[in-house]
Amino acid sequence: MLWRIAIVLAMLLAIVSCSGESSENGAALRLVILGPPGAGKGTQVEKVQAATGIAHISTGAMLRAEFARGSELGERVKMIMARGDLVDDATILDIVAVRLAQPDCDGGFILDGFPRTIDQADGLDVILAEQSKGTVAVIDLSVPDNVLMERLLGLGRADDTDATIRNRIEVYREQTAPLISFYKEKGVLIEINGDQSIDDVAAEIAKKLKL
Ligand code: AMP
Repeated sequence: MLWRIAIVLAMLLAIVSCSGESSENGAALRLVILGPPGAGKGTQVEKVQAATGIAHISTGAMLRAEFARGSELGERVKMIMARGDLVDDATILDIVAVRLAQPDCDGGFILDGFPRTIDQADGLDVILAEQSKGTVAVIDLSVPDNVLMERLLGLGRADDTDATIRNRIEVYREQTAPLISFYKEKGVLIEINGDQSIDDVAAEIAKKLKL
């Protein structure tokens, strides 16, 4: 009799520890950071990454690496990027799916510069479901347009002419900003005021993510 109870207890323990494992996986920090060009996403992502060790996935950096090594994809997207327009959704979803499948993303990740359209956000949901990666929380780093222009012109990146900068902001407002209400409706939006010092923005993010 006693050994039967012991077996049942052992089985129960095994079930509890397995579900413990899956809830641990469920707790992996999976983030998206939204914000117009010049909002300071890159800087803040570095801080989140330093605090948590999660993988940083920047689609812009991945595309720049492609044309730096002269790949066919790099050549194809070069002019689109120089204009500040968006690369097509299918191309972006392909590179994100491959990147998210890499083992360093199992412990969590932060997507920077992706998704940029509602179709990309829908595509991300499909990728996450296919890879059993749960759902994302979304940081929205908001900064007014006039502050962005000042910041971006100050940065003076060689490929950023005034017209390109304006176009990138416009493209963001038209195609990417709708994601803010998309994620708000899903109840996963974390709103952050990006118009404050780097350290204050970082502190607000850390507080809201409970880092
Ligand atoms: P970023 O470094 O995120 O500002 O990206 C630089 C450029 O790469 C953008 O202006 C787009 O041309 C392209 N790009 C980066 N991420 C995406 C994306 N998710 N969808 C479409 N185009 C992108």
